[in-house]
Parts: sequence; structure tokens; C-alpha cells
Amino acid sequence: MGGGCKIYQSARATSWQAVLEGDSSVSQTLVLNATYDPLGVVAERRALILVLNQRATMVESSGEVLHYSGGEVFLPSVVKLNKFIRIPYRHSVPLSRRALFARDHGRCVYCGATAASIDHVIPRSRGGQHSWENVVSACHRCNHQKADKTLKEIGWRLRTIPREPVGAAWRILGTGRPDARWLTYLEPYGAEPLTSTAASA
Ligand SMILES: [Zn+2]
Repeated sequence: MGGGCKIYQSARATSWQAVLEGDSSVSQTLVLNATYDPLGVVAERRALILVLNQRATMVESSGEVLHYSGGEVFLPSVVKLNKFIRIPYRHSVPLSRRALFARDHGRCVYCGATAASIDHVIPRSRGGQHSWENVVSACHRCNHQKADKTLKEIGWRLRTIPREPVGAAWRILGTGRPDARWLTYLEPYGAEPLTSTAASA
């Protein structure tokens, strides 16, 4: 159901692995802990191996069916591990354009217009870091006007103080290309539905 149903088919492939190996478009699967906490994103092929080895259970299918000579299987969009795994340390959230736009709600932090670019609050030419605390989303106009000046020099203010987002969901939004089916599982962990701006960035 839903979306475009991609059918994988190969007469010569004798196993589902062989069919997926021959597929150039790599789809990704969201992996949840046994407690439904989001853990990360893996290639669909790896997720399928987890399911077939009974280390994980498919929670959401991608709606795509993989055919091979031995049968057919649904490909997973979301899987849940059968056994709880402990995460020993907190990962920091990768600073990506997508994650940044999601943090700033797709808005320019200076004027609130639709964001279209990334701005360093303290310009890099003035020693500003490429970090969550110094990077914001901005519209083209503000970015152009601000250029390599500091906020003090032009008398501007930030609408919000930039910080690193926290929560497992952000790690995932910052890395993969989020599937709409994942949001149900990511929202309790701080993700918000992507705005069209952030989704197309
Ligand atoms: Zn602006």
C-alpha cells in the first residue's frame, strides 16, 4: 500500500541478497531498540538480514516487495531489535544542512523568512566555528546583508539562541534521508515533522 511500489525482480538471482546487491538505489531502514527508542539508520539490505536472522522484527514495511527465485519478502522501512541493546555513550548530532534547517524550523533566525542558506553568526573569517552554537539557517537577503560582519556591528539579534539539538531522533534526521513512516517513531524523541523547506533542502 501507499507510495510507489518498487518491485525488485531478477530471474537469475538465486537469493534475495543477490537481488538487492544488484540494486543501485540504496534505501534505508530505521532501526529501533527493543524499547522503541530510535537507534540509527542502516541499509535496507542489512535490516532485512536482521529480520531474517530473527534479531529484529519488521515494524513497518516500505511497501516494496523483493522477489527472488526462492520466494518473496517485504522490505522493511522500520525494524525493532528483538533484544534490548545498551548504548554506552551519547553520540553528538552531526551538523548537516538538513538537521540545521529542521532545528531552525526552516526559518531565517534573523527575520523569520523562509531560510535558504546557512550563516555563521560569528563569521568564519573572524574566527567563528562551524558548530551548532555558531551556525544558523538564514534567508538569502539577511545572509547577503550580514556578509562578514558581526551582529554587534550591524545591530541585529538572534530570534533564538543556537544550540546543539538533543535526542536520538536528531542523530537520525541529521544523517539519513528521512522516510515519512519514521516520524511516528522519531516524534517522541524530539523530531518534528519536516517542513517542506527542510525536506527539500
Ligand atoms: Zn532573513
